[in-house]
Amino acid sequence: MGWQQRIETALDVRRQQQRWRQRTLLTVNRAGWLQHDGRRYRNFSSNDYLGLSDDARIIAAWQQGAARYGVGAGASGHVTGYALPHGELEAELAQWLGYPRALLFNSGYAANQAAIGALAAAGDRILADKLAHASLLEAASLSPATLRRFTHNQAASLHRLLASPCSGETLVVTEGVFSMDGDSAPLEELHALTQQAGGWLLVDDAHGIGVQGEQGRGSCWQQHVRPELLVITFGKAFGVSGAALLCNEQTADYLVQFARHLIYSTAMPPAQAEALRAALRAVQQGDDLRQQLAANIARFRQGARQLGLPLVPSATAIQPLLVGDEGKALARSDALRQRGCWVTAIRPPTVPPGGARLRITLTARHRAEDIDSLLEALHDAQSE
Ligand SMILES: *Cc1c(COP(=O)(O)O)cnc(C)c1O
Repeated sequence: MGWQQRIETALDVRRQQQRWRQRTLLTVNRAGWLQHDGRRYRNFSSNDYLGLSDDARIIAAWQQGAARYGVGAGASGHVTGYALPHGELEAELAQWLGYPRALLFNSGYAANQAAIGALAAAGDRILADKLAHASLLEAASLSPATLRRFTHNQAASLHRLLASPCSGETLVVTEGVFSMDGDSAPLEELHALTQQAGGWLLVDDAHGIGVQGEQGRGSCWQQHVRPELLVITFGKAFGVSGAALLCNEQTADYLVQFARHLIYSTAMPPAQAEALRAALRAVQQGDDLRQQLAANIARFRQGARQLGLPLVPSATAIQPLLVGDEGKALARSDALRQRGCWVTAIRPPTVPPGGARLRITLTARHRAEDIDSLLEALHDAQSE
């Protein structure tokens, strides 16, 4: 039918399903507030949990890095793109998290694709939590390994999958804190089962690093688990962009040989690595920010409980309110926006069918009055 026809048909279907996605142009985007079309909103859709994206120390480090190294890496790390700040950041991350090695990637999406793509071979199996991030599931389904999914956060379900025989290697994949639900994986149980089966565990802690655990070392540290493969990302609590994979010596060497995202992609700018070193220090010293965030989460949950809102059992900055119907979720999001609160509606296929929700995220930058305004707006929007 031709490319154009195919594209237009897909767009028509998307519109009919009320799943039309669009990007909104913002003129200011901060952890606590944002500006759109000349109007200011309280921002409850940011993953910048500690408010580091506009931290003066990190901006200064980026500027100094740019003055010294220029604004671009100029090549892949395998050619001439691997500079002093990359090496230092990798060493600092490895030491901080207690791993022999860390490898930098341009994004969490790339890190997951690279690690799973380079490791998984035919005959292997990847056992992933049903709600694992799209980047993990996509990497697994593109790989020659067999992908099977276990019930969300259910170690017993993983146990059943592990019981069936597999001649190849086993990789178990989960998130530390789930991006759309805010709940945490039972890492200790998952890791124990994985080890019993002779497999490796990969934890993607995009939403736990910087926030959970001592010094913000993340979900694994908090739960006293050291998975064989740990992916952390820098676009959320670190307030910047990029990612790292933590692993042992040989795995790092292996990925330097075989991970195509490292070999065929320009390295992150050295100035960004400098900024990330400053962000790492801010995270390490960020107990006050984590305390403020915890206070904001508690204030929100208490208020929401009083209003009888459908809270889910999440102790983290991600506080989804389940709506179910997609149209309704969009209408609620609009109603909140009219009241000055920016809360994105999340719809399938990002979440399972019937799982449309308002994904509220809290940050250290919110003030008590921001949270109270959100609660008031939610109350009004609910009774509409
Ligand atoms: C955001 C996210 C990613 C992608 O990381 P980017 O650096 O934004 O590409 C991967 N995994 C999870 C769980 C995420 O939430």
